[in-house]
This record gives sequence, structure tokens and C-alpha cells, in this order.
Amino acid sequence: MAAGAVVAGGQTAATTFFGGDDAVAALQPVAAVTKEAAPADPEAAFEGAIGGNQLLPDPLAVDALDPESMVDVQNLAKAVDIGRELARQAAIIEAALADGAPEAYLYGDTAYVKPTVGHLTSLFGSRWGRQHEGIDIAGPIGTPIYALTDAVVEESGPATGYGLWVVLRHTDGTQSVYGHVNRSFVREGQKVKAGEEIAEIGNRGYSTGPHLHLEIWSKDGSKINPLTWLRKRGIRY
Ligand SMILES: [Zn+2]
Repeated sequence: MAAGAVVAGGQTAATTFFGGDDAVAALQPVAAVTKEAAPADPEAAFEGAIGGNQLLPDPLAVDALDPESMVDVQNLAKAVDIGRELARQAAIIEAALADGAPEAYLYGDTAYVKPTVGHLTSLFGSRWGRQHEGIDIAGPIGTPIYALTDAVVEESGPATGYGLWVVLRHTDGTQSVYGHVNRSFVREGQKVKAGEEIAEIGNRGYSTGPHLHLEIWSKDGSKINPLTWLRKRGIRY
């Protein structure tokens, strides 16, 4: 479209200069001047005649004002902006994967990672006549656990039933809870980034085999089904 618009503009200008009866009319005063005054330089007279008798549009000015050309320039600028935005998002994802998290996704403008490698062994909900407040992801002791997203460490240490746990408060107020961990690598009050290794899978507390017990607490403290919450952010088990 850009080339077409430019050519069309050029043709319009060329016609005015050289084509058809208009061009002949433009040349006529030159012939008259030549007969009457016989200037030394006929070329100079020719140029003077065109400049003096007609206000011809500048072909460059025609192109600059062509609304279609302006749209093309805007589209190009937009494409450059989109390219920059994609590069910025790719950088966020890359940073989230830097510590070894298996997957990372952008949700809004925030990175979320798959918190550990392993397989789902227990769902959220009623289990053995009591409420299981999270999901269990089984894996060998020592398997890295990554911060789900940017957060501040709310708690890191022993907790009844959880053995040793890490609780993260995300930027939006949601909290993620990582239970039965073997070791924690973070301290209360510490800032962590999405994908940062915070702990490793263990078998401490009320646990019958090494696994990550993951809970998600909403801002008001209610426990959310982690599978649904994760799936919304692109993470599946
Ligand atoms: Zn559990």
C-alpha cells in the first residue's frame, strides 16, 4: 500500500508538469517571450515561465500530505512499539526462568512460574473426612521449589502440621504456602522474584512421602483451589 500511494502521488504531479494540454499551455508563454525578447539563455526563460505562470504542487509535499502514507508511517511506528513490548515481556519470562523453574507465564504484567517439577498426588477439597486446603505435588527430597511470583517472604520456619513452611505474600496481596519443605533458603521479610528458588521438597510434618503441599490464600484469607488459580495463569499439573 505504501508504494502504491507514493506512485499515485508522483503520477499526479508528473501529469501537471509534462502531460496533456496543460503542458502545452505552460510552454506557450515561453515561445512568446523568446520571440519578443530573445533571451541569451532559452533554458532560463523556460524555467522562469513555469515558475512565473503556474503554482505547481511540489511532488514531495503531495506525498507528505497523502493520508494513506501517513497511516503507513503510523503502522510502522506501531509495529516498532509492539516489537519493543514483546521484547520487554520476553525479558520478564527469561528472568523468571533463570533459576531453573520449568515453566513461566505472564498474567497481566506479572510473571508466574510452575513452582516445582513433580506429579499431582492429591487434590484440594474433602479428603479422608477432613478438608485438604491445598494440592500435593510429589517429587524426590531436594527438588527445587520456586517462588510462584514476585513476593515478600511472610514466614519461613517450622509450622504445626506443615513441618517446615514458607509463606509468600504476592504483590496483589494473595499468599502462597509451601509446606513440608526439607530446607528453606529465604528469611522473613526478604523480597523474592518470580522463579527464585526458595526451598526444596521434603517430607517434614504431617506427610507420608516427599511432596510439596501448596496452598493459595486469597487477600481475605480464604483458601482457594490452587489448581484453578494456577490454570488461570497458564500453569497445569
Ligand atoms: Zn497436602
